[in-house]
Amino acid sequence: MSATPVSAASVWADVVGQDRAIAPLQAAVERPAAMTHAWLVTGPPGSGRSVAGRAFAAALQCPEGGCGQCHACTTALAGTHADVTVLATEKVTIGIDEVRSLVATAHTSPTEGRWRVILVEDADRMTERTSNLLLKSIEEPPPRTVWILCAPSAEDVMVTIRSRSRHVNLSVPDPEAVAQLLVDRDGVEPDLARECAYAAQSHIGMARRLARDSDARARRSQVLALATEIRGVGDAVLAAADLVKVAEDDAAAATAERDIEERNSLLRTLGADDGGRLPPALRSQVKQLEEDQKRRATRHKRDVLDRAIVDLLSLYRDVVCLQVGATVPLVNESHRGHISDLAGRTTLADSMRCLDALALTRERLAGNVSPLLALEAMALALRPRTAA
Ligand SMILES: [Zn+2]
Repeated sequence: MSATPVSAASVWADVVGQDRAIAPLQAAVERPAAMTHAWLVTGPPGSGRSVAGRAFAAALQCPEGGCGQCHACTTALAGTHADVTVLATEKVTIGIDEVRSLVATAHTSPTEGRWRVILVEDADRMTERTSNLLLKSIEEPPPRTVWILCAPSAEDVMVTIRSRSRHVNLSVPDPEAVAQLLVDRDGVEPDLARECAYAAQSHIGMARRLARDSDARARRSQVLALATEIRGVGDAVLAAADLVKVAEDDAAAATAERDIEERNSLLRTLGADDGGRLPPALRSQVKQLEEDQKRRATRHKRDVLDRAIVDLLSLYRDVVCLQVGATVPLVNESHRGHISDLAGRTTLADSMRCLDALALTRERLAGNVSPLLALEAMALALRPRTAA
């Protein structure tokens, strides 16, 4: 991180290990006359796409070009700046009405800032019809409007939008840079920060969560232990059930508090007192909310299971590294004992077979297979075939 061209106080401080991607954004801030009106910020999950998007928005509004301290910077970063509109969604697709409203906003002049900035965090979640609506606005941009579109990769947005945007690609940050961020910003103890940055494979949000939450670390260790503990069919079935239970508990913990808040806020909006009786005419709205919340919990559970499989993939990757004698750092250094045990009592072919089984399970979970069935099949496939 010593080569960072920006001061620790600047808006770019949290955009970890992305100096190459930041350079064109900062150059645009410094040369407003040559502004590109649509930007496409891409990068793998956890690389900080939306953090980079917000930093760029703040830098555009800041009289100093992104000091990180002034009112423009702090409000833009917090998402409360009057001229920065952020569309973040948890839905599978962005609604056409949401984009219609953004387009209308895009055509108004900034009220206090230098630019009217519209940030779409998941631009890949638009249907073709919605994308076309957005395209029209990007094709004829008002002079002081800047669109910032974020997506996992350029291929995830329509080619016509891509061709009218300037593309900035974030890379997977160096785990050492992620560890340094955890130390500097979250006050995490350096050894733990390093362990978590590697374990999360540089996914910044995941690394932070592991570092702050010992339960999350314990759950991850439990998942990794699966690989070494499954010996027979009985173990495998039990392990699969455990994993589903862990995911359900995690989903419940992550969504429970928010569900109640949303429900109370809806009831207030509807004019019903907390805990009071609801007129029949309003019940359908509450029911709709409950259904949305249920879908969110289901998706969260699937995300947790997917993460568990990614963790297991990282473990077998480490096993393979030891089996072929590669001298690269292990993702799961703190589990080296188990990994080297597994590497010693299985063959490279076994490890490859396990990696394939895990990849197949990911595909099945992404489809509509019952998580329990998919995980049982996975756990059975992970049983060691070769005796020591
Ligand atoms: Zn500033």
